[in-house]
Amino acid sequence: MKMVLMSVSMRRLGVLACVLALLVAAGCGAGPARTAARKSGQVAIVAAFYPLQFVAQRIAGNHAGVANLTQPGAEPHDLELTPRQVASLTTASLVLYERGFQPAVDEAVAQSENPEVIDTTTIVPLRPLTPTGDDRGYGEGAGDDHATLDPHVWLDPTRVSRIARVVEKRLMSIDPDHAADYAQNAAALTRQLRSLDRSFRSGLADCVRTEFITTHAAFGYLAARYHLTQIAITGLNPDSEPSPARIAEVQQVAREHGLTTIFSETLVSPAVAQAVAGDLGLTTDVLDPIEGITDRSRGQDYVAVMASNLAALRRAGGCS
Ligand SMILES: [Zn+2]
Repeated sequence: MKMVLMSVSMRRLGVLACVLALLVAAGCGAGPARTAARKSGQVAIVAAFYPLQFVAQRIAGNHAGVANLTQPGAEPHDLELTPRQVASLTTASLVLYERGFQPAVDEAVAQSENPEVIDTTTIVPLRPLTPTGDDRGYGEGAGDDHATLDPHVWLDPTRVSRIARVVEKRLMSIDPDHAADYAQNAAALTRQLRSLDRSFRSGLADCVRTEFITTHAAFGYLAARYHLTQIAITGLNPDSEPSPARIAEVQQVAREHGLTTIFSETLVSPAVAQAVAGDLGLTTDVLDPIEGITDRSRGQDYVAVMASNLAALRRAGGCS
């Protein structure tokens, strides 16, 4: 009789433990979960979109798993999250995101109450989409709050370097056992980004044409850094459709500046670029906003695709 009672209470305890485990998994006590993950030698990083994943992977090397909330080939603007992804933000050792870019991520990060978070806008503030040259059409989607700030900071390699330095320091404090490796990996990444920046500066220093026409307005930071002028057919949202009037305007600008190329993107249909190029007999080429890497990308990582972007800009600009 006594034995039976004991086994019942043991079972009760078991049930209680399960409930506690569920609460932990659900995020009611994520701190212990994070600590346990670190003790088992597994640093789990969650990055909101590809360029942040790239930075995290390069610095963490084989000391961390890096998950990307934006699936390869998916478009990161207006991303939606699965419940599993939302839960992963609570247990992650470190979360990297850019506040103001992906509203679903902003909300999930706030809900997670995870203290190990890097919001890249605290390192590299977003600037308003300032018109450089032709700004007609930039107003599309302007009723939308987050459409007024330009999120595409990663297309300036010097800004990526600044983000990388903060990721390095944070990983060193989260996982001090591997601090030396993080420092070494970050130094290597910084050297590569610096060299990329030098290639852009010298490669774009002497061009016949400094205006370039893109599909969505992703290249504002790049244009500002290298003294080019971006003319975007649509606004900040890659999915918005330009009006026939907007297409006519862009064609007029192309004629005025003697431009030869209309750029399309890897993850977005080239139809818009083709529509603009078609009537004028212009070429289309790809300028990649690096919002994801797929097998169609012109390069296997951020640095390689940026090098392809430089080559494309040099062709379009007639640079020497
Ligand atoms: Zn974009």
